[in-house]
Amino acid sequence: MNSSCAHSSTTPRGAHKSAASSDNLAPQNQLFLSYFFTWYRRHRRVDVRCACVAICAGFGALSLCLLIPRWLQLASGAPQGKVIGIACAAGAVLTALIYRTLANERAKQAAATELASALLDANRECMKLIDLDGNMLRISEYGAGLMDAESPAQLAGAPWLSFWRGEDGAAARTAFAGALAGRRTAFSGFAPTATGRPKRWDTRLTPIKDEKGRVIAVTGASLDVTSHSDLLAQLQAKNELMSEMEAHVPLVFYSYGADFKSFHHVSAGCFKVFGLEPAQLLQHPSAWMEMVLEEDLPLVRGEMDRIVSHSVDGRVEYRIRKADGSIRWLRSTGYPVQDEAGTVLRIIGITEDITAEQERIATLDRAAFTDSLTGLANRAALFREIEARCAAHTPFGLMFVDLDRFKVLNDTLGHVAADRLLKGIGDVIKDALPPDAYIARLGGDEFAVLIGSMAEKTGLEAVADALLVDLSRSGRDDGAGTFVTASIGISLYPEHGANHEALLTSADVAMYAAKKAGRNCFMFAGKEAAETIGDFELERDVPEALASDQFLLHYQTIHEPRTLTVHSAEALIRWQHPRRGLIPPGVFVPILEETGFIADVGAWVLNSALSQLAQWRGLGAANLGMSVNVSARQLRGDGIVWEVERALLKFGVPPAQLEIELTETALMENPYHAQKIIAALKALGVRIAIDDFGTGYSTLKYLADFAPDTLKIDRSFTSKLVSDPATQTIVEGIVDLSRKLGIKVVAEGVEEQQQLDILRDVQCDFVQGFFLCRPQPPAELERMLHVGADNQTIGA
Ligand code: C2E
Ligand code: MG
Ligand code: MG
Repeated sequence: MNSSCAHSSTTPRGAHKSAASSDNLAPQNQLFLSYFFTWYRRHRRVDVRCACVAICAGFGALSLCLLIPRWLQLASGAPQGKVIGIACAAGAVLTALIYRTLANERAKQAAATELASALLDANRECMKLIDLDGNMLRISEYGAGLMDAESPAQLAGAPWLSFWRGEDGAAARTAFAGALAGRRTAFSGFAPTATGRPKRWDTRLTPIKDEKGRVIAVTGASLDVTSHSDLLAQLQAKNELMSEMEAHVPLVFYSYGADFKSFHHVSAGCFKVFGLEPAQLLQHPSAWMEMVLEEDLPLVRGEMDRIVSHSVDGRVEYRIRKADGSIRWLRSTGYPVQDEAGTVLRIIGITEDITAEQERIATLDRAAFTDSLTGLANRAALFREIEARCAAHTPFGLMFVDLDRFKVLNDTLGHVAADRLLKGIGDVIKDALPPDAYIARLGGDEFAVLIGSMAEKTGLEAVADALLVDLSRSGRDDGAGTFVTASIGISLYPEHGANHEALLTSADVAMYAAKKAGRNCFMFAGKEAAETIGDFELERDVPEALASDQFLLHYQTIHEPRTLTVHSAEALIRWQHPRRGLIPPGVFVPILEETGFIADVGAWVLNSALSQLAQWRGLGAANLGMSVNVSARQLRGDGIVWEVERALLKFGVPPAQLEIELTETALMENPYHAQKIIAALKALGVRIAIDDFGTGYSTLKYLADFAPDTLKIDRSFTSKLVSDPATQTIVEGIVDLSRKLGIKVVAEGVEEQQQLDILRDVQCDFVQGFFLCRPQPPAELERMLHVGADNQTIGA
């Protein structure tokens, strides 16, 4: 404190005295100083200056002692030797006394100086000595460094008060005035360093007084608190920011005791989230828990216990009922704070209101699990529901409902009407089923139903029956005789599977089996249905079959009945399947129709048949006709017309030699459109035959509407010709009527001579059947007919 004046001639003494005599000096300090001085004195060396002064004083004393007795002797006549001895003794004593006094005083001064500089060195403050005019007489070495000065001398004499400005200047002047008045004073403020860098200082001023208590100087100790104050400012700014955030965001920041009995901190957001003031929670820490819905409480408590007992982060979503009765969703996140031993001291975390988020999720969830067209559950929702029911281990039935020939309807009705139809079907299904049935649309024309109340077979049979009846009754008459039927496959939990995949596959297989069994019926999953699984294989294998030429055509001849001359050949498709061998069209054509592959395969048939015809024509069968079967699906759109025209041109076949066979059923699916296509084909010069005549719902009216060139009487008539006179009459009537309409008649399925005879009798135009020729590969047919070598019998 006093070190900066160590080199001054007066101040060290004053300072030392001031420090030593200060009433305020603590006893410990006095003890410390006395110990230091004693120790210092013990270690001091012989002081030469003191010794010289003392010796001079001694000589002086000796001289005096010698002169004084001489004067006395002159007066009294005392002996001279005695006087000299006394004088020497007095000089020696005096020399010793003076030396001791001087040495002591000097040691004290040196000790004070040493102590002062040691303290100064240890002091991390800017120490300075200020005179009564406010000028800095001295500044400590360390202080000069703090003041960015090159040396203490740079600041010596500088007016200390001029470093302070504004309010800080006023505070400095007040403090200095106080010190001049004899008081210790202190203040805080900013003052620039020698380089102009502002720093914040905590300054203490201490007056230095002389023996009479007059202030002779002031010491200043300034602590550089710039970094502290910056830190404080930062902390304060952060604190303010935190408080602002806490106050404005709808979140509660909390610090909860590990026993959950008290809060250390609850942020202002508490009011927004819980409707409680933070103070309320601090006073009554369980107030928030009393708002949690009873069913969610175990969840919340469980998570709180888990955080503390396992010392892990936790998160829980739960609902509260606020004072106004509204239910809010909250999410609380908690993190355990541990001591070094790993004991959880408190839980800090955040609670936020996630009601909006939950509502959004619910909306998305609804959208994600709802079929937009029908409003029914969608595929994903069905999967979820099946899994939930499987998890509950309660038996239920799954019905897979697929509309029959929907693809036809879709194409003929157009998408808008088809969508309307599907929507209506959803309603029909809903109405036909028990109230607890879970209905979903899987996409397209596929629906699925879960029935828990009648999970046994008989109950499900009754439901499926009722559903089929309702669906067919709901048939939509669009003026062209369109009816809706469905095929249903049923699987049972747990009999046919324990998850959605297994149950849906089983029901799907059963549905295909139902389709194969003639459509508009239902079938349970099981062995019978599984046997039709091959159909799935076939469906899957179609693209590969097309790519690797697994389809082939056999040809069956059509004859003139009397001469048996071959009039034409009918192309009949087969599938040479790599694993299943030769598959007849009855097995895979329906699949092709259902999947839409019939378009590609049909085009292939047309081209192959005409290519073959062109080849035979080239071999001499110039008049041979070729019949090609075209399915209903191929009639949609007008692609077939364009395809036929292109193929005829490509192979150079006269149109009249091509006959397109259309089944009654195909024509019935959309008679109006079929009529247009037929007209277009006929315009090309191509012949039209109605195949399987007599098996469908068609009436003779269609003969007028479609004006076919040929009628092919179905073999079910031919087979009864011999045994059933009525059938014979019908066939005779058809032949008569057709002749009058200019339509040729072919009798299919002639298997025996008698049938041929009758057909000859009724003057049927042509005959076809195993009795005459089985469908054969082209090479066989060529051999049989001697094409090239003798072509007299064909194409006559
Ligand atoms: P379809 O057009 O009526 O063809 C006649 C069917 O009767 C052929 O069966 C033929 O083998 C069979 N058949 C001929 N004579 C007799 C007989 O005397 N007795 C018996 N029991 N059957 C006889 P296939 O070849 O199995 O064809 C079945 C059906 O598949 C065809 O009936 C036709 O509707 C369809 N089909 C065949 N090829 C194609 C094709 O390329 N495209 C389309 N869309 N359908 C085709
Ligand atoms: Mg045919
Ligand atoms: Mg036929």
